[in-house]
Amino acid sequence: MNRQNLIEQFPLIEKMKKAEEVIWFNPNLTKTEDALKNLSVTSEMVQDASDRLDRFASYLQIAFPETAKSNGIIESPLVEIPAMATAMKELFQTDFNGEILLKCDSNLPISGSIKARGGIYEVLKTAETLAIREGLLKETDDYAILANKEMREFFARYSIAVGSTGNLGLSIGIMSAKIGFHVTVHMSSDAKQWKKDMLREKGVEVIEYDSDYSIAVEEGRKQAEKDPTCFFIDDENSTDLFMGYAVAASRLKKQLEQQGKKVDEDHPLFVYLPCGVGGGPGGVAFGLKLLFGDYVHCYFAEPTHSPCMLLGMMTGLHEDIAVDEIGLDNKTDADGLAVGRPSGFVGKTMEQLISGSYTISDEKMYTLLALLADTEQVFLEPSALAGTTGPIHLASSGVALNNATHIAWATGGGMVPEHVKEVYYAKGKLLLNH
Ligand SMILES: *Cc1c(COP(=O)(O)O)cnc(C)c1O
Repeated sequence: MNRQNLIEQFPLIEKMKKAEEVIWFNPNLTKTEDALKNLSVTSEMVQDASDRLDRFASYLQIAFPETAKSNGIIESPLVEIPAMATAMKELFQTDFNGEILLKCDSNLPISGSIKARGGIYEVLKTAETLAIREGLLKETDDYAILANKEMREFFARYSIAVGSTGNLGLSIGIMSAKIGFHVTVHMSSDAKQWKKDMLREKGVEVIEYDSDYSIAVEEGRKQAEKDPTCFFIDDENSTDLFMGYAVAASRLKKQLEQQGKKVDEDHPLFVYLPCGVGGGPGGVAFGLKLLFGDYVHCYFAEPTHSPCMLLGMMTGLHEDIAVDEIGLDNKTDADGLAVGRPSGFVGKTMEQLISGSYTISDEKMYTLLALLADTEQVFLEPSALAGTTGPIHLASSGVALNNATHIAWATGGGMVPEHVKEVYYAKGKLLLNH
C-alpha cells in the first residue's frame, strides 16, 4: 500500500490526525458464521479456557479469599444505569433507544480491571502446564494443593516477564507473585506511580522505562529470550490472553438471561469495549460473536490520541502502522489505552467481526467519570468510561437502536487509591460544570 495516499483512501484520517472524535463503520463486517470459518481460534479453545478456570476455582478461593463468595470464579456484576442514561442524553443533547447496562470489570476480584480475565488466566495456564509436566498435578486433582508450600517452592524456580502500561502488570504481577513465580514487570513511562508501588509491595520486580509501551514489551521479550525458565506474556500476540478474555461471554450470557434481557433478531445487543492493544476487547468480542452471532454488534472505543486499532483495521495495515505515522502523540490519561501500535493478531482475527470503532477525548472521559459517580455512585478510571458514549455515537450516526440492549464495558477502576480517585473526580467535575 502506498502510504502517501493514505488520507486519500481513508479520508477519516484527516480528522483523526487532528485528534477529533470519529466513528468508523467496518465495511468488512461479515455474517458471523462465514467470518468464523476463516479463523484459527475456535469455540473449543474458549471452552478449554473456561474449564481450566473452573479447575482453578478451589485454589483461587484459598489464595484470594475475596473470591470465596463467587466460589473461586473471577466475575463482575452487570448493572442497570438509568440515571446515567438520562444524564448523558441531557449532556449530549442526543436521545437514543434501548437500555444501557454497565459491565463492571472495575469490580473484578484480585486486580480490579479487565486484565483480571486474560492476565490471570495466562499465569494459571503456565503454572498448570509446568506442574503437570513435572508430574506434580493432574487435571482431576483438587487444585487447592497448588497453595501448598512445596508447590510454591516449585514455581519459584521459574519466572514470568511482562511489558505493561499498568493494569496488565498489576494482574500478572499479583497473580504470579501469589502462586510463587518470580515476576518482573517492565513498565512504560505512562504507568501510574501507585501501580508500581503496589506491585513492589507484593514482591514484584518493577523495571521502569522512559519510553512507551512498545519498548517495555520489547524489553520483557528480550529478558525472557535469554532465560529458558522465564516465560514472557506477550500482550501483542498471546492466544492464551485472548482466550481468558473470551470466557467473559458465556458468563455474560447467563447474567443477561438471569436479568430477563433478551438477545435475538428483534432485540439486538450492542457492546462497547475500550481498546488498547486489542486483546481484552478483541477476546470479549470474539466470545460474544460465538454465542450471539449476528445479533451482537461490537464496537471498540479508543482515545483520540491513540486510535491504533481503528487505524490498523481501517487501513488493513494492522501492526504495520502506528499512530505516530499520522502525527498523533499517543499521549492520553487513559493509561490502559495508551497504545500506539495495535496487535496484528487481534486486528486480523476481528477484521470481519467488529461492527466499528470510535474515538473519545480525554476531557470527555473525565467528564463522564464525574457524571457516573454523581448519578450512579460508581467510580471508574478514565479509560473505563470510553465505552459509555457508544449509544450516543450510534444514535447520532442514525443507526437503528429499537429494542436494543447496550453494554458499556467498564474495564477498570477498582484498585485506584482514594487520593487518586479524588483527583480524577475533581478534574471531571470541573469539566462537567463548564
Ligand atoms: C488494558 C485495558 C483496556 C484494553 O485492553 P487491551 O487488551 O489493551 O486492548 C481497557 N481498559 C483498561 C482499564 C485497561 O487496563
